[in-house]
Amino acid sequence: MIIVMFGPPGAGKGTQGARIVQWLGIPKISTGEMFRDLAAAGTPLGLEARNYWSAGQLVPDEIVVGLVKERIAAPDCRSGFILDGFPRTVTQAETLDGMLAGQGSALDVVLNFEVDKQELVRRLSGRRTCPNCGATYHVDALPPQRENLCDHCGHTLARRADDSPESIITRLEEYRGKTAPLLAYYEQRGLLRTIEANDDPDSVFGRVRQVLEEVGRGQGGRR
Ligand code: AMP
Repeated sequence: MIIVMFGPPGAGKGTQGARIVQWLGIPKISTGEMFRDLAAAGTPLGLEARNYWSAGQLVPDEIVVGLVKERIAAPDCRSGFILDGFPRTVTQAETLDGMLAGQGSALDVVLNFEVDKQELVRRLSGRRTCPNCGATYHVDALPPQRENLCDHCGHTLARRADDSPESIITRLEEYRGKTAPLLAYYEQRGLLRTIEANDDPDSVFGRVRQVLEEVGRGQGGRR
């Protein structure tokens, strides 16, 4: 199954994507994570992209598209994958359709996570992540067991560079201006399934499962 996780920053795409990985056993491709890893490794492309994402702006389409094209051609993507944070513009969506058609496949579903703006800001401003293993926490809603240390690997937690108040505002504006128009694109193609995602991750995942099971049944049980 090929799944797109769609929604504004803070909607829970990463959290829900990780649960789908465990459930379906297909890889999750997060373009945001790819950019953070490339920047940490100090590659020229990673450093160029960092100029955009650290300020909350979208990275130019040509950079993102090249990375995704290479990643989805990898052998572990043959029985499906989850895209988290891609596509984010209509150009990226059109390019993705072309890439998949070239491989003789197509998108199965776009999960659109809907969360109130106030809740998004609350989640992003309290978010802490582990730079070592990628686990995410929230200072109030999901604190680590030991203050500021990752429960999984013990590494010190950090706030993402783009979770600063200024970058959060820019990211929400980028979403409204450039990414939200994609909703109509996928709606027209009959791929969009909206999931109410204001409450806790377990409840949201219950809805995600239900939708994916329906989509799977529509394909004759194919995962
Ligand atoms: P995320 O981890 O999905 O919140 O992404 C972090 C940042 O990486 C975004 O705010 C963008 O600056 C950049 N980014 C990630 N995916 C894309 C994409 N598909 N197109 C453009 N920029 C992206």
